[in-house]
This record gives sequence, C-alpha cells and structure tokens, in this order.
Amino acid sequence: MFLNNTSNPEDKLDSLPVTVLKGVGPRVAERLKRLNIQTVQDVLFHLPLRYEDRTRVVPMGSVRAGEHVVVQGEIELAEIKFGRRRSLLVRISDGTGSLTLRFFHFNKQQQTGLQRGHGIRCFGEVRAGPVTLEMVHPEYQLVEPDAVLAAADHLTPIYPATEGVHQLTLRALTEQALHYLDRGGLVDWLPPALVSDFKMTSLPAALRYVHRPPPDASLELFASGHHPAQQRLAFEELLAHHLSLKRLRERVLHTSAPVLQDDALLVNRFIGQLPFALTGAQQRVIDEIIHDLLQPHPMARLVQGDVGSGKTVVAACAALTAVAAGYQVALMAPTELLAEQHFRSFSEWLAPLDISIAWHAGKTRGTARASALSAIADGTAQVAIGTHALFQQEVEFARLGLVIIDEQHRFGVHQRLALRDKGRDDALRPHQLVMTATPIPRTLAMTVYADLDTSIIDELPPGRQPVKTVAISQARREDVMASVRKACSAGQQAYWVCTLIEESEVLQCQAAENTATLLAETLPELTVGLIHGRLKPADKERLMAAFKAGSIDLLVATTVIEVGVDVPNATLMIIENPERLGLAQLHQLRGRVGRGRAHSSCVLLYQSPLSANARDRLAALRETGDGFEIARRDLELRGPGEVLGTRQTGEMQFHIADLLRDEALLSDVEQAAGRLNQLAPGNVSPLIRRWLGETALLGEV
Ligand code: ADP
Ligand code: MG
Repeated sequence: MFLNNTSNPEDKLDSLPVTVLKGVGPRVAERLKRLNIQTVQDVLFHLPLRYEDRTRVVPMGSVRAGEHVVVQGEIELAEIKFGRRRSLLVRISDGTGSLTLRFFHFNKQQQTGLQRGHGIRCFGEVRAGPVTLEMVHPEYQLVEPDAVLAAADHLTPIYPATEGVHQLTLRALTEQALHYLDRGGLVDWLPPALVSDFKMTSLPAALRYVHRPPPDASLELFASGHHPAQQRLAFEELLAHHLSLKRLRERVLHTSAPVLQDDALLVNRFIGQLPFALTGAQQRVIDEIIHDLLQPHPMARLVQGDVGSGKTVVAACAALTAVAAGYQVALMAPTELLAEQHFRSFSEWLAPLDISIAWHAGKTRGTARASALSAIADGTAQVAIGTHALFQQEVEFARLGLVIIDEQHRFGVHQRLALRDKGRDDALRPHQLVMTATPIPRTLAMTVYADLDTSIIDELPPGRQPVKTVAISQARREDVMASVRKACSAGQQAYWVCTLIEESEVLQCQAAENTATLLAETLPELTVGLIHGRLKPADKERLMAAFKAGSIDLLVATTVIEVGVDVPNATLMIIENPERLGLAQLHQLRGRVGRGRAHSSCVLLYQSPLSANARDRLAALRETGDGFEIARRDLELRGPGEVLGTRQTGEMQFHIADLLRDEALLSDVEQAAGRLNQLAPGNVSPLIRRWLGETALLGEV
C-alpha cells in the first residue's frame, strides 16, 4: 500500500465517520447518506458541481439573464403583489441600472428589513422577469449604502445538495474535512510511480484546490474542467469506473459456461441458403463470436454495427451454433415490434432447418403463453424470442446456452447481469451477445462497456445507396405530400412518421390517426396504413406484412418503427417535427429506408423556428450518414448521459469526470489500470469504493 502522510491508522479518513464533524448529529448524518456521504473521506469526494464568482461586485447595468452575480445598491421600492402567488417585489438600483428581487416566501422581519433607502448586497441568478431583469430568492445582506465590503476571497463552490442539507452546511463540512485532510490520513491509492509518470498533481493538493480555489483561479479554466487539479480527480474517477467494469469482466471469466462445440454444418447450411453473400465484416464478427462460444467461460461481447449493417444475420449464426451444440437461445429486443420482426425473420430462416422457435412477450396470454412457457421449460423450444418478459421469474429454460440482446444501449449494466443469472441453476452461465445499432465512439465504449469485448461491423452490404436527406419547413407540407404521391405512383413505398412530445401514448396514437386520415383524404389514390404502439400484436403483424408485401403504399407510424423494421422497397421517409428527437433516434428512423438498391430519401419536415441546437442536429443528419460520425456529434450536442440512454446514466454518474471533455484521458486511464493491477492490486478495491461506493463492489457476480 502507498500511504500518504499516514500516521495512525485510526486517522484513516475512509473509516472516520462523518459524525466526527461539528454539526453532524444523527439527523444530519441520515440526510447525508442520501448524498452517499458516510465518512470524512466521502465529504472530501463530494465535489462541487460548479463555482460562482462572488469575488467582485457587478454593475447592474451590465448584467444579463442567466448570469450568477453579486450586485450592490439601494432599495428604491418594496411592495407586496397579490397575483396568482403572493410575492414581495423589491426594486434595487446602483446608478448604472436596476433589478427586481422577487420573494415568494418571506417573513415579517425580512419585510421590515427590505425598506426603501436601505443598502443591500445580493447574490443570485439573473432572470428575465415580466418587466425587468429579476433575481428570485437571492442570497442577500443589508449593508450601509456606500459600504465597501471585502468580496469573497475565492470562487464559491456549489455542491450537489439535498433536502435539509444546504450549501452553507456543505461548505462548513468541507471546511472541516479539509482540516482533516491537512493533518494526513487520506490514502493515495495511486502508487507514486503512476502519479509521476502521468505528471499528476498530488491528491490532497487537487482536493484542496477544487474545494477552495484560490483567489487567482480562473473561473473560465474551472468551468472548462481542464484545471490540473480537476483533471487529476477526473482521471482517478475514470480509472475507478474502468477498473470496476474490468473486474466485472474478470469475475465473469472465472465462471463457467457451456462449450458450444459444433461442426458448423448448420451455420454453413444457413449461410448457403441466404439470398446474398455475407460481407467481410459480418464474416469476421461471426468468427469472433464462434471462437468465444468455444470457450468454457461466458462470452460477453458487444457487436456494434450501424443501422442496416446486417446484425440480425450475425445473431442468427450465433444462435445456430448454440442450437447445433444442443443448447437453447434467448433473443430479446427492447420493443415488441422489434421482437416480432426478429421472430418473423428467424421463423423464415430457421424453419427450413427444422428448428423450433417460441414467442414470449408481456402481452402473450392464455394458452399461447402457457405453451410457450412449457416449450421453453422442457427444451422443445430451441430458440425463444421476445421482449424483456423472457427474463421474468416464471420463464425457466431447460438448457440456456446463449442470450442475445438487441439494441443494447437501452439496457444497463445491472440488467445485463440479471440476464446472466438465468442460467444459474446448473452452475453454467449462458454466453451473452449484445448488439447495438448506436455506434459508440471507441473511447467511450472503453469506459462504459469495459466489461464487454467489442466487435464492430464496419461495412454495409454492397449496393446500398446513401439516403438523401433534406430539411423542409411545415409551410411546404403540400410539396412534401406531392412527392409522396409521386414516389408511390412509381411503385415505391413511404413512411410518414409522427413524433410528439406528449408523454401519453393515447395522445400520440390519436395524432397519428388524425395524420393518417388527413393523408388518406389528400392522397385518395394511395393505400394508407397506420401503425402505433396501441395496436394488438396480431394487427401490427398484419399491417407490417401488408406493407412488406406492397399492398400498403404509405405507412403512417409513431416512432414505434424506430428500430429494426426492414422493408427494402420503402424508399421515402417523412419525419414530422424531427426537431423533437435526438440525433441518434433520427438516424435510427432514417435507417428504415435505403435498405434496397433504389435511391432513397428522407424529408425532415420541421416546425420553424428551430432552436440553434435543433438546427445543428438536422444539419448533422443532412451532412452525414455515418453512424459513428453521428454518434460523435450527438455526444457533442447532448453529452454522454443522453447518448447512452437514461438507464445507463443512472449508473454512470460521475462526481467530476465528463466522458466527452475527458476523452483525451481515456487511453491513459486504460494504461494506468493495467499498471495499478500490477503494482498494487490491493489498491483496486478501495479505489473503486472511494469513487463508486460500496455497492459497486457488492454488485459483482
Ligand atoms: P441491422 O444491422 O440494422 O439490424 P438487418 O440485420 O436488419 O440490419 O439487415 C438489414 C437488411 O440487410 C436486411 O434486409 C438483411 O436481410 C440485409 N442484409 C444483411 N446482410 C446482408 C448482406 N451481406 N448482403 C445483402 N443484404 C444483407
Ligand atoms: Mg437490427
């Protein structure tokens, strides 16, 4: 172990309860738990979210909405307004301009203090009010009108807070914790060799700096997160995440899985009967998977492939390998529509090979449900396809050998772990293959998916045409309808996708219904179909079959068709109000066209005016069809949390690191992880615990 100024083991801050700090009794301690603060070390690693510059007073005439500033002036008017909500309005000015302070909660004492003629200094966020610029509930202090006050002497840290634990408390606690830090007792889990090789600031210095930046610290540098103190901590945090996922991976490798030995006859027969040749990339990824399946340890492999790169065929080859070896396969998709689509493709492909497939989704009821469950339980079903319902308690597999999850980014690490447990009974864990159509930049994948090996299908089937993408304003809706008419009269098919912000599925479906009715009226010569999430599975199936067979020209849909739907003759897609969707989702939607050999187009029928961000998103989509490039831009525009999906964010909350900003650190992080494992393997667990908490260590298989 590499201790840092350690004197007495009792002083170790990771075992010193937070209750040693002044002001922390049982009640506060209970509240601090909500912030994951239990020890003095936890207080030190509860890092500021941002900083406020209270080091200088700003003239009111120069403040703008959105800024956090200190202003000082004289009260000109104080009055109580009885509007929708009773509020106390206080008008202040400093000769350069004026501002209104607005209080919804105030007591008698405050009211008497805030009198015309009194001097006041306040700090808060400036907002555009109904008449003037305002500050709502600023922090304030009454002062002599012309007082010259010492401003704060460092940037003020703003901490993540919780009910009953406010900024002032957190500032007082960190102040005390910093005294403990100065006295030693915080272990640096990075060996000195690592710290010096990566030229890092010392840990105590970095912590002190971010909690109490000195007066000369630049707010801009701090806001950008590139200060060496911040970078040192971000590095350590990323390292802790990386190590915890790597460790997860290692644990999995220490469990056993069935060796899926197979003479490849079935897979070769299947490939031979396909109407196309596999791309080189598909072949390579299939080989990687088959190699994994031959190991006595569970595969944990992520296949990334852009929309339309042909992941389903790859999944089928993996499934056939398991089936030929005498094991069952579970294939799970995030939506029923996508699962149905897989069920159809697999039924078509595998029927000639005499393989029996069961369907199981949440909505399956009655005898269909019972017979699916019994076929899965007694092993007559060799492949089970469905939604996450497949992984509920009542589903028991006879011999589960392989789990395939499509559209992985919607499932988090812990869900992946739960799936592995399905094969737990006989001590053999199933192999796991996850497929995602949202390409994740390599560096990001390295951190977020470090528990998985990755394969990339980096080649599209030959003959694919790029989808021509245009953005057209709703004002030109008529023109767009005319182009739908033209394409469909020429024998092609089109999608019309309705997006809505309403949360309610009912409202979404209603809106899609209205659009479908309108389109049918305007384009009477076309057969218009409507598909949405509230249709019965059988009806959806019928509609999709009709669309695939070409008996529907124009399919009006909600975003349920986002993933997986495959109709090569559809060459035109209209997306209404694309400004409401994220870039990745738009890319997914657009991927429904451009699947055949004909030229395809996508019309982004937007509602003006567009926000700057929406304009950037639509521009990115027009400019490129490359999923990786789109993922990169998406990351820039929305940040990693959004890109990886909300479920993932829940698990990937960082104190200080930012996957996008700190991308440059990631390759060093990977190296450092290897070195730490060599130099001081015993330091890995405490480092993970420090940054991710106890649960990160418990959640391991
Ligand atoms: P995704 O990767 O988006 O899941 P799919 O598996 O749905 O893509 O494949 C898209 C379409 O491409 C399907 O119609 C599929 O049959 C076809 N396809 C897959 N591989 C090839 C290939 N090597 N050559 C030609 N078409 C292919
Ligand atoms: Mg797919």
